[in-house]
Amino acid sequence: MRKFYFTPGPSQLYFTVEEHIKTALKESVPSLSHRGRAYENIHAAAVEGVRQLLQLPADYHVFFTSSATEVWERIIQNLVRTESFHFVNGAFSKRFHEIAQNYNINALSNEVKEGLVVDVEKLLIPETTELIAITQNETSTGAAQPVEDIYTIRKAFPNQLIAVDVVSSTPYINIDYSLVDTAYFSVQKCFGLPAGLGVWVVNNRCFEKAEKLMNEGLVIGSYHSLPALMEKAAKNQTPETPNVLGVYLLGKVAEDMLKKGIDQIRRETEYKAAVLYQAFDQSPVLSAFVSNREHQSKTTLVAKSTNPSAGIISKLSEKGLVIGSGYSKFKEQHIRIANFPTHSKEQVEMLADELIKIE
Ligand SMILES: *Cc1c(COP(=O)(O)O)cnc(C)c1O
Repeated sequence: MRKFYFTPGPSQLYFTVEEHIKTALKESVPSLSHRGRAYENIHAAAVEGVRQLLQLPADYHVFFTSSATEVWERIIQNLVRTESFHFVNGAFSKRFHEIAQNYNINALSNEVKEGLVVDVEKLLIPETTELIAITQNETSTGAAQPVEDIYTIRKAFPNQLIAVDVVSSTPYINIDYSLVDTAYFSVQKCFGLPAGLGVWVVNNRCFEKAEKLMNEGLVIGSYHSLPALMEKAAKNQTPETPNVLGVYLLGKVAEDMLKKGIDQIRRETEYKAAVLYQAFDQSPVLSAFVSNREHQSKTTLVAKSTNPSAGIISKLSEKGLVIGSGYSKFKEQHIRIANFPTHSKEQVEMLADELIKIE
């Protein structure tokens, strides 16, 4: 039986990817020189697709990295001299904070329990902080920071750079990117692509900060420093030999999503999330881990279970439905379900029916 993946990344491929890979192989895309015109066109198409899908301001830049994890390190290298401030509410936001600590900077944080989001009204961030890091959708717990909270932080801290992790929520999440300075994602989450490509969006304030640090003699990294990325991006190229197939597929899937329409994708995501949360409510063994409905993620849903997750996972797997276990210490107590654009209404309804039956 062919399995269908509801795991929160990697996940089921976007339904058009198989055809695009076939076309790419026919056109020898993986053999193209990354210094040639054909690659430059592929690069430009992917950047333009991301730009339109995320409705980025014209003066924002789009760069390619190996993953979102790489971007965490690049953000600290390029944008922070001495002090960063991190919202921490789960494993991914914590990892970014730890990477900042690895750099021996003053890496401050506000940490709240898993399942919650940081309360922006109660937050004290020193004026000396250079960068505020927010994980909009904490994939390990299914807690989503409302975008209004990010705008509240923007208003209160106009001089700080704001970095937003939208790894497991974009393009569903509707953020006004002109109100943040940098954002990033990996393609194996909502875009439904093979892993191994990160996308890093930055504005000119970020670029100026990186140049300033460089001119002060600080090390801001080498081939993936912002100035190095910028120089090559101006020619629709990358400093290194990139994941050409990944860039090609990103451009194609972005185009497919634009054809479908971002509003349609958002409406469907909300409908499917409602179906799944309702199944959690109806289930005798499951309940939403995030209790505040306003903070429940629409793209990565997490349920607590009174039964060990392994049994639930294997039962669903027999029906061809692959869901995720809890993250790390929650492995046995939670299940996690991706609700990405490739997961159709019919498939989600089928999964919800099976979830309700579990006893
Ligand atoms: C998956 C994920 C990451 C890391 O992505 P990689 O592709 O493994 O680098 C970072 N942040 C969040 C919120 C994620 O879900």
